[in-house]
Amino acid sequence: RERSGRKPEWLKIKLTTDENFTEIKQMMRSKTLHTVCEEAKCPNIHECWANRTATFMILGDICTRACRFCAVKTGLPTELDLQEPERVAEAAEQMGLRHCVVTSVARDDLADGGAGIFAETIRAIRRKMPMCGVEVLIPDFMGDAESLRKVLDAKPDILNHNIETVERMSDRVRSKAKYRRSLELLQRSKEMAPAIPTKSSIMLGVGETWEEILQTMDDLRAVDVNIMTIGQYLQPSLQHLVVKQYYTPEQFAELKAEGMKRGFSHVESGPLVRSSYHAHEQVKSAVET
Ligand code: SF4
Ligand code: SF4
Repeated sequence: RERSGRKPEWLKIKLTTDENFTEIKQMMRSKTLHTVCEEAKCPNIHECWANRTATFMILGDICTRACRFCAVKTGLPTELDLQEPERVAEAAEQMGLRHCVVTSVARDDLADGGAGIFAETIRAIRRKMPMCGVEVLIPDFMGDAESLRKVLDAKPDILNHNIETVERMSDRVRSKAKYRRSLELLQRSKEMAPAIPTKSSIMLGVGETWEEILQTMDDLRAVDVNIMTIGQYLQPSLQHLVVKQYYTPEQFAELKAEGMKRGFSHVESGPLVRSSYHAHEQVKSAVET
């Protein structure tokens, strides 16, 4: 077990709680729903929830994979909750969300990887809140094209799938996911539903080089990904991968410029940027371009 080095100043944030939060948290408990915002103790929670953006984690809280950067529990899930899509839609309504991100653990135990529940969740939110943007952040469904099609048929506003890291580091960092398979998923999405913007994220600080980051941008643009987010990896516990490098805010700004030069419609890049950060603005920019 190895501890990452001292955190630089720009990563230190103050967490506060207020009444509004307690109320929303209780509502989540009563509906037995999980948000990544809470589970991952995301530093952006105040800003995002105030901007009416939240990320739901569906299909349970036990993942069939064990990526070395991720704090989600690993194991063999047993349940499939068919009422979950409806409860997510109710929660989104109660929070008055303008942008709703739906993601999940990897459910390699299910034949469709959970794609059917993703599709139902999109539809349930649309029925209740036609004005709410819906972004799905999906696992790779083991490369299954039919699962991807199920999700796309429900017409999300954004199809997001994270490549997570550069090609050379993928095997070390991710559990069963593969760099090329992730690119293939993003490419297929564009072929099956060209009108739906695609999005992908990487986290920095696991041992990649600057050139490899730029190469990853090129690879994502080669399959026509529209939106990219770049953030700093932080070690969730001593059992997880150590942080090899902290990038400065200036370096993140430089990467944003590199991304925009390559033709992404939106690049969100900064130390605390997470996949769904400023997701609402990203929809706008993708629609406008
Ligand atoms: Fe939630 Fe994503 Fe915002 Fe974090 S960045 S608070 S996970 S919506
Ligand atoms: Fe975490 Fe996703 Fe990897 Fe599961 S597949 S361990 S939820 S990053």
